[in-house]
Amino acid sequence: MFTAVATGVDEPLSIAEREVPEPGPGEVLVKITACGVCYTDLDLLQGHWPIARFPVVPGHEITGVVAAAGPGVSWPPVGTAVGAQFLGDSCRHCDYCVRGDQILCPRKRITGILMDGGYTEYAVLQADFVTPLPEGLDPVAAAPLMCAGLTAFNSLRQGGITATSRVAVIGTGGVGTLAVRYAVAMGARVAVIGRSHRGEAAARELGAERFIATQDTDPGEALKAWDNCGANLVVNAAPSTSAAAATITGLAPDGWLVLCGYDPEPLILPTRVMVLNRLHAMVNPSGSPHDLRDTLEFSAAHGILPEVTPIGLRDVNAALDAMAQGSSGKRSVIAFG
Ligand SMILES: [Zn+2]
Ligand SMILES: [Zn+2]
Repeated sequence: MFTAVATGVDEPLSIAEREVPEPGPGEVLVKITACGVCYTDLDLLQGHWPIARFPVVPGHEITGVVAAAGPGVSWPPVGTAVGAQFLGDSCRHCDYCVRGDQILCPRKRITGILMDGGYTEYAVLQADFVTPLPEGLDPVAAAPLMCAGLTAFNSLRQGGITATSRVAVIGTGGVGTLAVRYAVAMGARVAVIGRSHRGEAAARELGAERFIATQDTDPGEALKAWDNCGANLVVNAAPSTSAAAATITGLAPDGWLVLCGYDPEPLILPTRVMVLNRLHAMVNPSGSPHDLRDTLEFSAAHGILPEVTPIGLRDVNAALDAMAQGSSGKRSVIAFG
């Protein structure tokens, strides 16, 4: 099988030919259908993951089909279409694992960083960390749901979205677009915050009732004017910590600022405003297996799939380079024939 391997920081991925691995106890062998190229993969190659174990096969937006099961594995059966995400393994017995918050497990392992991921034709994955794909979900277009979709969906949920929420989404890229579509489908009212008006028409088409361009309006003030109260929830899907901080004054009392996008800068917040209104801020890491299951079922039920550009395994370095240069096109997804 052919595999793209990250050998170290600032090194291009090398394409290697490897033996198809055998699944051990608790593991399944998955024949990969598709694997999305995520910003985290670029982050890994830029050295922002000191815990990374090189050489490693990147990729955590995986869809595929179970090709073989290891000893003692009773589920999922061979032939099941599955997805796999950032969270690849956990200890299964700490308090967080036991209550279904495996993403918080201190001994979790991250797919494509601490264990081999999906830039390969076959991967060995933990049987109880793959998620069955709902019927009818196109496995190539669905690949980014495993990370971009899960993170957008779960950020709304962590921020306590309800059908009466006023939700603001910062960013008009892939994750932001998914967050808007999920929030609208959940019945919430939505505002979109962008730098310019470039994404306005698309945002309104998706159901956003407001568009705030930060080049001509202060986003905090503009949000505060929303029903003279502010947003109940702001989700930051832009890779900018300061863009998130600029909206905190636009939150309604008891409101949440949830970051799924950020940069290495510290998050600086006005505590006086926050204490008077009991405001909350959270940085949300993807989600646990039950969150992914819900994301996929909700996406299938509401027809929410990202627009993707299918590429070959050998095109992955070019796709990562384009991402590093800030091309904000459709998500690239490696599609295996
Ligand atoms: Zn645990
Ligand atoms: Zn990711």
